[in-house]
Amino acid sequence: MTHFRAAERSIALLIVLAALGLLLGWLLGQAGFGMAAGLLLWAALQLRQLLRLQRWLASRRMHAPEAEGAWQPIFDSLERRRKADRRRRRRLLIALEAFRDAARALPDGIIAIDDSDTIHWFNKSAKRLLGLRYPADVGNHLTHLVRSPRFVQWLGEGPLDDPLIDLPSPGDERVRLLCRVIGYRPGFRMLIVRDVSNLMRLEQIRRDFVANVSHELRTPLTVINGYMEALEPEELGEFGGLFVQMRQQSRRMAHIVEDLLTLSRLEAQSMPIADQVAMRPLLGTILRDAQALSAGRHQIELCVSTELDLLGSGKDLHSAFSNLVVNAVRYTPDGGQIRLLWEMREQEACFSVCDTGPGIPSQHLPRLTERFYRVSNSRSRDSGGTGLGLAIVKHVLNSHGARLGIESRVGEGSCFRCLFPKKCLHDRSATGTSESALA
Ligand code: ADP
Repeated sequence: MTHFRAAERSIALLIVLAALGLLLGWLLGQAGFGMAAGLLLWAALQLRQLLRLQRWLASRRMHAPEAEGAWQPIFDSLERRRKADRRRRRRLLIALEAFRDAARALPDGIIAIDDSDTIHWFNKSAKRLLGLRYPADVGNHLTHLVRSPRFVQWLGEGPLDDPLIDLPSPGDERVRLLCRVIGYRPGFRMLIVRDVSNLMRLEQIRRDFVANVSHELRTPLTVINGYMEALEPEELGEFGGLFVQMRQQSRRMAHIVEDLLTLSRLEAQSMPIADQVAMRPLLGTILRDAQALSAGRHQIELCVSTELDLLGSGKDLHSAFSNLVVNAVRYTPDGGQIRLLWEMREQEACFSVCDTGPGIPSQHLPRLTERFYRVSNSRSRDSGGTGLGLAIVKHVLNSHGARLGIESRVGEGSCFRCLFPKKCLHDRSATGTSESALA
């Protein structure tokens, strides 16, 4: 309504000035010139308002200057907008300050970097944990300041869903760090660094405890087993049956201790071993062991369709592969089939053990590699398992940068796949012949 009235007033002013100009011009005998002068005066008034508006917009003043006619509502609305903008800016500044204070107070280090690892911002804890200096290090490459090869490789290669665990702080080796990275907008990533020294210490205490207990148990168990192997159940008359059970359980205990020691050794291994492991002989041995364990109860088949070898620890890989094969033999009922495969699957080399056993319900699959996790307690104990086999497999594969994939259908069977990335592979024969051998 006010806008409308203001426009009306402007038009009225235009008409009045034109009419006055016309009247004066007519009185002077120059009606046309008179009207043109009236219109020119109106245009000059509008130009004055425009200049005022321009000057005010260029200034930082909050209150708009006085305006006339149709200009009044324009000035008013621009003034309201300017005030609202200032309020919004203040609110944003307060929110930004609050965010900065919160980020500063965080015990975790936060560093904003771009795709080329250039540092854009970091908080106080990042200074302490990574030894960064403010403002000198803003604009520098993070990998020039944190030079640990593990960190540089992790940040460069990923997969960044996985955190980097146990990185020594550049300033103090005793401080152990856990690093995560999150992409928060295109081209930018946020690195979160946490001090996990206490957690790592507790983890070390746990590992040492398990290793020491296993070690201490090994000697008495070896002695007990030795005596038990020397005795014959028939010599014990009515206690013969009990003795057989004791001997079985004592052997099982010895296996558990051996597996726990293997796990402790794998956990303590800091540097991955990168020997060349010839796959054909290794798979041949595993096949023969499986056939001996099965004693003709299963149909066991080995297919080799790649000549690639592995880089790693032959002993650990043998242990991991035979754990999978022993499980397949143990859990597959008599007459079932077991297939061992060494092949390329897209970019990865894959050793699979597939069986036609009972299968595993899907809800158990994510927890299968936990120590002592069992699908069915009675089934695994009857089979003589220790509950540590798949935990060993997972550890061996992790230490080789490989992963375990499990597919299983209840009533149909299971497939355990060890997937090795390119960096674990060694191409022995450049010709790369392909064959399938049925053993
Ligand atoms: P265990 O010594 O009990 O076999 P593992 O860690 O090797 O311990 O395996 C964990 C559990 O996974 C087993 O108890 C068993 O229930 C299940 N499992 C492993 N392999 C197979 C398989 N090939 N078929 C069916 N179940 C399996």
